[in-house]
Amino acid sequence: MRNKTLISRAVFIMSLLFIFAVNAQSQNVTLSGDFIQGGLIVGNATKPIEKASIDDVKVPIHPNTKLFAFGFGRDAKAQSVFKISYKDGTQEQLNLDIVQREYKVDKVNGVASKYVSPPESVLKRIRNDSAIVKQARAGLSFRTDFTNSVTKPAQGRTSGVYGSQRVFNGVPKRPHFGLDIAAKTGTKVIAPWSGKVMLAEPDLYYSGGTLIIDHGMGITTTYIHLSALHVKAGDVLEQGQLIAEIGATGRVTGPHLDWRLNWFNRRLDPQLLLP
Ligand SMILES: [Zn+2]
Repeated sequence: MRNKTLISRAVFIMSLLFIFAVNAQSQNVTLSGDFIQGGLIVGNATKPIEKASIDDVKVPIHPNTKLFAFGFGRDAKAQSVFKISYKDGTQEQLNLDIVQREYKVDKVNGVASKYVSPPESVLKRIRNDSAIVKQARAGLSFRTDFTNSVTKPAQGRTSGVYGSQRVFNGVPKRPHFGLDIAAKTGTKVIAPWSGKVMLAEPDLYYSGGTLIIDHGMGITTTYIHLSALHVKAGDVLEQGQLIAEIGATGRVTGPHLDWRLNWFNRRLDPQLLLP
């Protein structure tokens, strides 16, 4: 009898530990999303938060709704720590288990050599492109568009996935961070969420026609290799609105949309948002 009680108590405690480790239960905060490399997490609190961080990186809190978002990068470690300090002086630490992924190696041949080893004359332009893109992703607004479910921005064949290691003409390059949707030039691209256009550039060196849309709390989406842009910086968009057309501009081997999801300058996997 006593043994049985001990065993059932041990099982009970173990199951509690398991639930805690997997879901990181809290009385005061809910986290929903994909606890995986590239995953986006949307959080909400029941009492006012003073500050929060994920692995010591600040997580901004919406001033009116206590809503927040963060994400796990391509190479996020298996354990992540979310810390919250509440305005009532209490603190909480949630230990999150992050699913680790395996990424494929993607060999792409036939890339124009000016995109694999760019000539000296364009290095300044490349640095400038990269600076304006980073700046567009770094801003914080209190939009909450990202709390809705996503509409796929274009129809077509999936021709590239998040995280794959890219080898262009035999030269290893940075990983691929988008979801590639291949379709013919001129295919419609629509806004997957409502949002505000932060950057609309018809001709960046690597990414060609490029759009970045802000959805609030550090969440932005990026659209590259576009042949035509139908919106400009500052435009406020409705979900489903026509924003651009698929193209083959910049470093590509054929027409496709490269769609990206970001939490500030951290790259997430947009495919995880789709059903
Ligand atoms: Zn791509």
